[in-house]
Amino acid sequence: MGKIELLSEEVANKIAAGEVIERPASVVKELVENSIDAGSTRIKVKVEDGGKKLIQVLDNGEGMVAEDAKLAFERHATSKVKEANDLFALRTLGFRGEALSSIAAVSRLKLTTKREDSLSGIKLRLVGGEIEKEESCGCQVGTNILVKDLFFNTPVRYKYLRQTSTEIGHISDIINRLSLAYPAISFRLEHNGRQILETTGNGNLLDVIFNIYGREAAKDMLEVDYQQDYMELTGFIAKPTTTRSSRKHQSYFVNDRFIKSGLMSKAVEEAYHTLLTINRHPIVVLKLKLNPILVDVNVHPTKLEAKFSRGNIVYKVVKEAVTKAIKNSDLIPKIELEEKSKQKDEVKKGSKKQDYQQKNLNLTTGSKQTEKKKKNESKSKQMPKYTQQTKQDSKEVRAKKIERLFGGVEDSKVDQVQEESRQYNEEDLSLVPIGQIHQSYIIAQGLDGMYIIDQHAAHERVIYQQLLQKYKEEQVKIQELLLPLKLDLTHQEAQLLAEKEEQLANCGFLLEEFGGNSYLIQGVPVQLYKLDDQELILDTIYKLIKELDFKEEHHFAKKVLVMISCKAAIKAKTKLSVKEMSSLLADIEGYQVQTCPHGRPVMMHLSRRELEKKFKRR
Ligand code: ADP
Ligand code: MG
Repeated sequence: MGKIELLSEEVANKIAAGEVIERPASVVKELVENSIDAGSTRIKVKVEDGGKKLIQVLDNGEGMVAEDAKLAFERHATSKVKEANDLFALRTLGFRGEALSSIAAVSRLKLTTKREDSLSGIKLRLVGGEIEKEESCGCQVGTNILVKDLFFNTPVRYKYLRQTSTEIGHISDIINRLSLAYPAISFRLEHNGRQILETTGNGNLLDVIFNIYGREAAKDMLEVDYQQDYMELTGFIAKPTTTRSSRKHQSYFVNDRFIKSGLMSKAVEEAYHTLLTINRHPIVVLKLKLNPILVDVNVHPTKLEAKFSRGNIVYKVVKEAVTKAIKNSDLIPKIELEEKSKQKDEVKKGSKKQDYQQKNLNLTTGSKQTEKKKKNESKSKQMPKYTQQTKQDSKEVRAKKIERLFGGVEDSKVDQVQEESRQYNEEDLSLVPIGQIHQSYIIAQGLDGMYIIDQHAAHERVIYQQLLQKYKEEQVKIQELLLPLKLDLTHQEAQLLAEKEEQLANCGFLLEEFGGNSYLIQGVPVQLYKLDDQELILDTIYKLIKELDFKEEHHFAKKVLVMISCKAAIKAKTKLSVKEMSSLLADIEGYQVQTCPHGRPVMMHLSRRELEKKFKRR
């Protein structure tokens, strides 16, 4: 007798189920995708104990007739596509006809469904995939599926389920993604009677982002809207100042399907680059629409990893679109007035509207200066206001102005100088130091109101920009050390260092092999040498080796420069002379600094108008 036996239907179903249904979240995904395919506009998901005990999905979709409802639980029963060549060309999410039979095979399942044109609905009860009971019933149009005791008949699978919190985490991820993919559908997720998510289904993606990530995150989103011959990219990305500690909050969709794409996320992070703090990641929701031919056909439905046959174009489009969105945003946070007084102001403004308009009119007609300023403002709305004047001044002219105002002043005369600086002609200079608070923040007056500047962050950015420029021109200055410093490394570290010796030299680090796993530091970038602190130099290089991903070729130099800038910048709690403050402010303007290389904001702005409002002058 031969060895081969055919598997029983039951065993075959259980094996198939194992492939499609890994955990409660897979059940949720399959059921909700079916609801979406059925044209639902409202989908409600109820879960108990992370889905281990119960999963219920209710929809208002087209429903099924009795005959189809029973057929749906047969393997390879699908109303969708007969032959699927290309996953991304499909308009429906399901197409293999495996989900319902797989879920039913490993659970106790109840289904109630009704079509609009049917007089009554049908109710089915299945245990382990077998229909145990069927009856007709009166019910609403749509489908209601209840899955109880998942994996009750496959104990090994059940054993592999994780804690409730982990499982509901996965379920919540699935619902989040689907809500982001379909803002026109209202989703609701409930766990043990507690509502986790509810979206309105009003079609607005930003509203869904608000529902998932909260008000603060939604407020700080930048819109991406980019069209190109072959593709279209839309969605939202977070400002570099609102980030999260993992990439988990980055969702990419291709033709409305959630995908994992190393390529797209790399392009995004590349676009942000130094605007992000190390190990911080922006919230990203990006939707790519393209001809299905450009996406690999052999994408495994549960693996979600998409391959692009024109990866380079996708990469370019994503990077360009994100860069454009970031550039168009004004990254200087505004100082917010207190919520209450703001509301009061609103009320007052209503009653005095005419008065206010009148005043405004007088101002504009009365003063040429204001008129000129207004013109300037409207011309370059995207640019931070403090830069407008500077742009016309050459560096030398500026230097002279600073010299005239503050030249050769000693600290003891600071008060006197500040007095002077208050008398300066407003058009003369755009950012003028008023003073320093807590020896950490510079207060300055600009063309429009007040600026508070974080001295460390600002200086760090300035140094970074200078270094980057020099690096590009291959002119980073190296200072040779009188006494070389010894660097003792692990074997692995020493190898990494050997690989990157040349790049490190381009960034200003001269290294020499010293036998074993040791190196000698012969020279460092001038900026670090000035600090004259050997510990610090060693510390920087150790950190470089530990923290840098040496494989990321072209990021390497930039990351090194970021690190040098941080070490070399003026620290907080350092007293600055007026001259030092002025020169820093000039550099900030010169380099149009908005955030530090780690992505933290460099300055805050309180406009004249806001000041006047605050003091009830308006
Ligand atoms: P697939 O989605 O791949 O077709 P499934 O096993 O998930 O396979 O579903 C089988 C069939 O059952 C679907 O093709 C569809 O016709 C029907 N169906 C499943 N869920 C629903 C639902 N919520 N509303 C209407 N029809 C459904
Ligand atoms: Mg399906």
